Amino acid sequence: MTEKLYYSDSHMAEFEAVVQAYIEENGRSCVILDRSAFFPGGGGQPCDTGLIGEAIIKEAAEKDGKILHYYTGNQKFSPGDRVLCHIDWKKRFSLMQNHSGEHLFSGIAHTRFGCENVGFHMGEDGVTIDLDRELSGKDIAEIENSVNEAIWQNVPVTARFPEETELAGLEYRSKLELTENIRIVTIEGYDTCACCAPHVSKTGEIGLLKVIDYSRHRGGMRIILRCGREAMGVFSLYQDSVAEISAMLSVKRKDMAAAVKRLAEELNTQKRICDSIKREFVAGLVAESEKTEGNLCWFLPDFFEPESMRLLLNEAVKLCGGAAASFVKKPGGGYNYVIASERLDLRALSKSINAAISGRGGGSREMIQGSAAADEDVIKAFFDSREIFDIQSQEK
Ligand SMILES: [Zn+2]
Repeated sequence: MTEKLYYSDSHMAEFEAVVQAYIEENGRSCVILDRSAFFPGGGGQPCDTGLIGEAIIKEAAEKDGKILHYYTGNQKFSPGDRVLCHIDWKKRFSLMQNHSGEHLFSGIAHTRFGCENVGFHMGEDGVTIDLDRELSGKDIAEIENSVNEAIWQNVPVTARFPEETELAGLEYRSKLELTENIRIVTIEGYDTCACCAPHVSKTGEIGLLKVIDYSRHRGGMRIILRCGREAMGVFSLYQDSVAEISAMLSVKRKDMAAAVKRLAEELNTQKRICDSIKREFVAGLVAESEKTEGNLCWFLPDFFEPESMRLLLNEAVKLCGGAAASFVKKPGGGYNYVIASERLDLRALSKSINAAISGRGGGSREMIQGSAAADEDVIKAFFDSREIFDIQSQEK
């Protein structure tokens, strides 16, 4: 058995221990100590990492009451060696801030709204909690506010293993139906919950809890939150983004939403104007084109996108016996194209057309689209010629 130091002192970041065994498991080196502050992971909280002597501990896990510390590197340990150990405190403290914050949030959601916590995960994107009841945005804000009040009250967080008889009369939250060796974590006045992980000693250490996102999930709610240092990190990120947007809009931060709304309305108006200009432009092009048994080819202004190119071609195919082709300059050079035809099989011809205009792309029998790298003269000459009809007749 390894003496689990994180149970008696969740703030122990450095400790001395004696090596009990060194083993190799699936090519990985592993050291077992007489005592350890490395939390092996559990209760939704990832394991600790850190140093044992010079060895970099990448993972800790529990097996038959022993804590296995896995590391990479050449260091060898012998039973009886005294070693100085450090856990990655920055990482552990962030995990404790998030985990204790989660207990507070779930505890208050339980007391206030009768929610059960049915899922809990701590990962790179913060803490994810699944609650079994639907909550409104207002409900969630109410829980979040109460959690932060509880944080600032700086109440004690304690953990102990009660006797079985005491446990029977104790009301506590638990995800598993365990009967022995149950560790109870109590946040004074707010929550009692079965949990094996190390926690902060007083709620003030959590600093802050911020709900980042929430959504309906399997008849309940999925809530993503961050606490302490991580909450501060997210806040700084948002702050930078808000400052940048406010400068771009030239408005005060509190007026940003109204400014964006105005901008969206203006954009919509401009889009409507632009659409009607494009339609008129297309009608003009169609009106001035003479019917031909050959092809038609246009190089359009760069405000044309594929949708308005197709608008033109839908009309243009009625005017020509061959292909109606439209090209628009791309910002990085070359052209985007849309080509349509009523009589030619463009899917079958696309390889030859692409070869002639240094292009790539494809589509249906009636319409193909893609990009071309050839010069305007080369493209124009190809569609002015009868080449496309020759290829079509050769293919038949
Ligand atoms: Zn827990």
